[in-house]
Formats: sequence, structure tokens, C-alpha cells
Amino acid sequence: MKVPQVVIVGQPNVGKSSIFNWLSRRRLAIVDDMAGVTRDRVSHLIETDGRFFELVDTGGMGVDDVDDLTTQVEDQITLGIESADVVLFVVDTRAGLTPLDQEVAKRLRYVDKPIICVANKTDSDTLDAQADEFYRLGRGKLIVCSTKANRNREKLMEMILERLPPPLEEDTVDEPVM
Ligand code: GDP
Repeated sequence: MKVPQVVIVGQPNVGKSSIFNWLSRRRLAIVDDMAGVTRDRVSHLIETDGRFFELVDTGGMGVDDVDDLTTQVEDQITLGIESADVVLFVVDTRAGLTPLDQEVAKRLRYVDKPIICVANKTDSDTLDAQADEFYRLGRGKLIVCSTKANRNREKLMEMILERLPPPLEEDTVDEPVM
């Protein structure tokens, strides 16, 4: 059975590890206030509504030098999206649109896979309008959410499920014929 992969990308500190934990309801990835502190690629198998997918946090893959983020984020994304079936492109509503977000968007331009642009840290609906600027990135369907305020988790999960490749027939387990 090939389990589809959902890969989380985005510049450091936007909340990738937090989203990973939030969606998997597990605390495995390291969350820290310092940019680039999460170093390892972490993945977790998730089952929801009878579908399985592997959620991969690319957070900090090689990102340990804040002075050279552009190249490193580029590497992170290249590695991460190769095997992805769905990409979660995370941005930070509180910080607003940054040049590094634009770099990530540029790298995703020729990625022929479903992309969901996750405007994290939209902690209340008063911030929703602020997330509108991310439409300018033109990369994927936009959803506002907040891991801290637990906003729109189910909606995001639904959007992921809608974009997963249809299950292959060989993946369904037939009852043995008696
Ligand atoms: P990463 O570097 O992209 O993996 O980001 P982290 O998940 O490590 O989060 C970076 C910082 O943002 C941490 O201090 C988190 O507590 C904070 N953070 C994550 N999600 C939210 C959110 O929804 N709202 C707010 N206000 N802060 C958040």
C-alpha cells in the first residue's frame, strides 16, 4: 500500500512544527521560539475518515544558519516536495507576507501538485482580513487557521482529504472468499 504524503513547507518560525503536532495530535516535533531550531524531518502516519496519509514536517531541514535562509529553505523544499502528494505551504498572518514567503512561492511555481496555503497564527477572526495579502502569492487555496486558538483544524483536514489521490484498488483489502 502506498500511503500518500502531505508535506509541510514554509520559512522558519511560521508554525510548521506546531501544525504537524496539531494535525497529528501528537507532540513529536520540537517547537521553539528560535527560528530554525527544529532540525530533523519528522513524519507521522495519520488516519482520518478511513484514509491514511503520512504527514511530513520539513521544518528546519538544514535550516540552522539564519543568515543563509534562502538557499536552505530552497533545499528543504526540493527534498520535501519530491515525494509529496499534497503540499501545505505555511505562512504567518501576524508577520505578514515576507520576501522569504515569496521565495518559497517561487520554488513552488512549477510544482504540479495540490497546494494548500495555510495562513497560520490567524488567532481570531479580527485577523482574517490581514491574511488576504497571501492571495498575492498565488500558490494554492488559502485557509486561515491557528494552532494556538485551535481554529479551522477540521476544515484544513477536510481540504487535505479532498486533495489526496484516490485510493488504488489494490490498496483496498478484500475479504477472503470462503
Ligand atoms: P516552525 O519553525 O515553522 O516549525 O515554527 P514552530 O512550530 O516552531 O512555531 C514557531 C513559533 O510560533 C512558536 O513560538 C509557536 O508557539 C508559535 N506559534 C505556532 N502556531 C501559532 C499560532 O497559531 N498562533 C500564534 N500566535 N503563535 C503560534
